[in-house]
Amino acid sequence: MQPLSDAYGRVATDLRVSLTDRCNLRCTYCMPEEGLDWLPLESQLTDDEVVRLITVAVERLGVREVRFTGGEPLVRRGLVDIVRRTAALEPRPETSLTTNALGLARTAAALAEAGLDRVNVSLDTIRSETFHEITRRDRFADVVAGLEAAQAAGLGPVKVNAVLLRGVNDDQAPDLLGWCLERGYELRFIEQMPLDAQHGWTREGMVTADEILAALEQHHVLVPAVEPRGSAPAELFLVDGGPATVGIIASVTRPFCGACDRVRLTADGQVRNCLFAREESDLRSAMRAGATDDELAQRWLTAMAGKLPGHGIDDPTFLQPDRPMSAIGG
Ligand code: SAM
Ligand code: SF4
Repeated sequence: MQPLSDAYGRVATDLRVSLTDRCNLRCTYCMPEEGLDWLPLESQLTDDEVVRLITVAVERLGVREVRFTGGEPLVRRGLVDIVRRTAALEPRPETSLTTNALGLARTAAALAEAGLDRVNVSLDTIRSETFHEITRRDRFADVVAGLEAAQAAGLGPVKVNAVLLRGVNDDQAPDLLGWCLERGYELRFIEQMPLDAQHGWTREGMVTADEILAALEQHHVLVPAVEPRGSAPAELFLVDGGPATVGIIASVTRPFCGACDRVRLTADGQVRNCLFAREESDLRSAMRAGATDDELAQRWLTAMAGKLPGHGIDDPTFLQPDRPMSAIGG
């Protein structure tokens, strides 16, 4: 076993696997209304190819946690089978799913039975009109049903990820927190990042971690949770004495690149050593040209060795990656 180390002493053990770049919502901070030019299906990894690469990562490269994402991973037909085969690997990795929860009400039980451990559901508001405005679809009730089904299926602790947008839902942070506390969901706010396909992100438009904390503190007493942040991107706060917590992921204003333990695999089989990487390593072509597992592992190690120390959003030379979040796997 050789760990996925880089030149700055970091070791990647958390693999984010994008299963598709397609999605049934159109969140304004992620995609344009008309959607994107989806990857041609022949360049998308097959179920067997995805499982083979995950196996290489777990058995040879020390990956301990596999998170499925997209696009919307629930639209991938082979999802339950991919989860089952991943959870059967030795040593068994932790498995989780980042999803918009459309259709989760139907699949949560099957996913849990296949070995999925946890879900993270993206939900930015509890007002159905605001949900429609942000996602451009009228599907708030489906997300609520998906969350309930995930909790009933034991896919917990159920986490909720929220992005705040200035002038749209930036006044709703306390409402969302109250709603999650009542239901036992762990809420985390994520600062909006320059990863939208339309390149519409601006620093002024982004609602900062400090603003979010200030808004929450008008209604709750927040105390930093004692456990060290480690490589976890969320800074956790005990709410009103705990045990419930709320998290803030300040990717832009308080970056955690120095403790990053992630690596990403896109739906078309490219390894990315960072969300903001401008280079990728093409494992799909190597695999289809007959590379052995050893050769794939070597390519993966080389890809990680070149990981930069930070995302550089504050650097004047910063360039947004060519792929948007939905095609990288957030
Ligand atoms: N479709 C699934 C979902 O929405 O959970 C999985 C993919 S989505 C790209 C993963 C996460 O990225 C979601 O929580 C979403 O809110 C977040 N996201 C998308 N675009 C973002 C951006 N520009 N800045 C910050 N987070 C973003
Ligand atoms: Fe789809 Fe997730 Fe992007 Fe929203 S954030 S458009 S649900 S991929």
